Amino acid sequence: MITSRREIGKAHIPLWAAGFVALACVAILALSGWREWESRQVDLKNAEVDMANLARSLTQHADDTFDLADTILTGMVDRMETGGTSPAAVEKIRTFLQSRKYNRQRIRGIFVYDETGRWLATTEDVNLTGLNNGDRDYFQRHRASTERGTLIGRPVKSRSGGQWIITLSRRFNHPDGSFAGVVLTSIDVAYFTEFYRRFDIGPNGSVSLLNADGIMLARSRDEDGSNVGRDMSKSSLFRTLKDRPSASVYYFKSPLDGLERLSFYQLSSRYPILVLATKAQEDVLEPWRQQSFTRLAVVAGLLLVIALTGFAFVRYLLQRQRMAAALVAKEADFRLLAEQCSDVVMRVGLDERILYVSPSCARVFGHDPAKLLGAPALAAINAEDRPRVEQAIAALKNGEAEEARLIYRVRHREKNEIWVETALRVTRAAETNKIDGVVAISRDMTEQQDLQNKLAALATSDGLTGLANRRHFDERLLEEWARAKRDGTPLSLLLIDVDHFKKFNDHYGHQAGDACLRALARILDAQIRRPADLAARYGGEEFVLLLPNTDSEGCMQVGERVREALLELGMLHALNPPSKLITVSLGGATNVPAQSMTEHAALIAAADRALYSAKNAGRDRLVMSGQVVAWPDAKSA
Ligand code: GH3
Ligand code: MG
Ligand code: MG
Repeated sequence: MITSRREIGKAHIPLWAAGFVALACVAILALSGWREWESRQVDLKNAEVDMANLARSLTQHADDTFDLADTILTGMVDRMETGGTSPAAVEKIRTFLQSRKYNRQRIRGIFVYDETGRWLATTEDVNLTGLNNGDRDYFQRHRASTERGTLIGRPVKSRSGGQWIITLSRRFNHPDGSFAGVVLTSIDVAYFTEFYRRFDIGPNGSVSLLNADGIMLARSRDEDGSNVGRDMSKSSLFRTLKDRPSASVYYFKSPLDGLERLSFYQLSSRYPILVLATKAQEDVLEPWRQQSFTRLAVVAGLLLVIALTGFAFVRYLLQRQRMAAALVAKEADFRLLAEQCSDVVMRVGLDERILYVSPSCARVFGHDPAKLLGAPALAAINAEDRPRVEQAIAALKNGEAEEARLIYRVRHREKNEIWVETALRVTRAAETNKIDGVVAISRDMTEQQDLQNKLAALATSDGLTGLANRRHFDERLLEEWARAKRDGTPLSLLLIDVDHFKKFNDHYGHQAGDACLRALARILDAQIRRPADLAARYGGEEFVLLLPNTDSEGCMQVGERVREALLELGMLHALNPPSKLITVSLGGATNVPAQSMTEHAALIAAADRALYSAKNAGRDRLVMSGQVVAWPDAKSA
């Protein structure tokens, strides 16, 4: 259970690895994304600070400029009200103003108009005759209002120079307090524009100076001058300006050029003016965008390497897992084969001790396989067969043969002994390919061996009588002849033939004939006493007794015993006179092969001739070869 759970856990390792790699990639991506966002925010923040500083200082600059203009205006109003507008006074003022041309960089010009708008005096070099500014907006506003403060007017095109100017004006009164005219100072819009252009605020950055009503007074980016005087009061900034603080960061889409802008506006505390310093977000973020692209490209490369490495690693893990599973399945197959196989599989080391033995060992040898591990492999082999097995194993270990097949006997734990057929094969170490032992596959052959023994017996015995058959007799005769010749001992042979057996068959039937032959066979088997003696069916109703180491005397005794035993049995044979019982005729022959020049066939021939004599002499008798037999005919003759 634990193992299987552990296996299931292991099965998920590639999945975990893939998840980990994916997580690492996502984390790196998220971290760098976050870092890039942070750095974008920092860049925007820095730009905001830059714009704030710029807007503040430019507001200060505008205030200072307007202060200067206002100081001049205040002085001029004082002069005009003190001096009046008599021709002498006007002449004095003209002279004064002509002397004030020293610095026209900031304050472009100073103008004095009478109550009708007629030009009284100016710093400009123009002919005043016929010039009238009574139509100007600021003039009409001063005439209409008793307000004595400074009026910052809308930008107008200078009547004297033709350029855009910003006007600051004040009314002056007659001694009775009625409207006497207007003094005006003008500032070139170009003065602000030029000044603003000195700041590096990016290709799309701009600085605008507006009055509190949203009229554009000056703008750094105003090449064609079309922006000056533009009414921006409808823009969202001016629409909401009342509710806004006097200075703040402000993001908007410019209605002038359609760019997303980051800006800072600052309302002047002294004049109704506002400075708006802006940078295009594009310009602010461009360096960040480039760096971030480079950084992200590096991160993407890194992620690609991690992902590819991770992919290769996961694939390797999956492959290993598949291989391991295949190996386990193969192992299981082999184990199944070895363990379910009825044969005993045994692995033996070079020291001839058992390294492995399959469970079937318990059934075949009666031994617990676990207890056999480390035991000597050849211990239970029958002592007679053991040298053969040892020799075969030695040959395998020496590399003389790859395999061998042997049949031998092994001690069973409970039974006496069993026959096994064993296939031996050398095993080699995987790394060195050197012989490291032997694998033996053994099969219980006891039943087959018994069967084989039975078959061998069948092959050498006669089916009807159970005695040895003719072939076996022939083999034994050869062996015994050779042995007798070697030992110099006599060898005797008795040929036995049933008398008038044809008639018996005819009279009593074939079945009775067979029974008679079986009875005779039992007698023959009973009469041979020595282990080396052999009773065999020579053919038909003819039998033979091979009697090694028996002289003719002994041979005659055996023959007589057979004849008498048969008579004693008293089997009826009506057609066999005179006894009318089953009788046999016997022909005996004895030879000492060592002394004779003849071959074994001569012994049979001699016995056969003797048998023939016995038949001729009247049957139911034994005639030994070389014995003189009286012929019945001769007797009767
Ligand atoms: P003799 O006394 O001269 O030997 O006469 P016989 O009739 O025995 O002579 P023969 O050799 O001519 O006959 C042998 C007979 O034995 C022939 C056959 O019918 C019979 N015979 C041979 N083998 C068997 C057998 O296996 N079973 C039976 N029932 N009869 C057999
Ligand atoms: Mg015969
Ligand atoms: Mg016969």
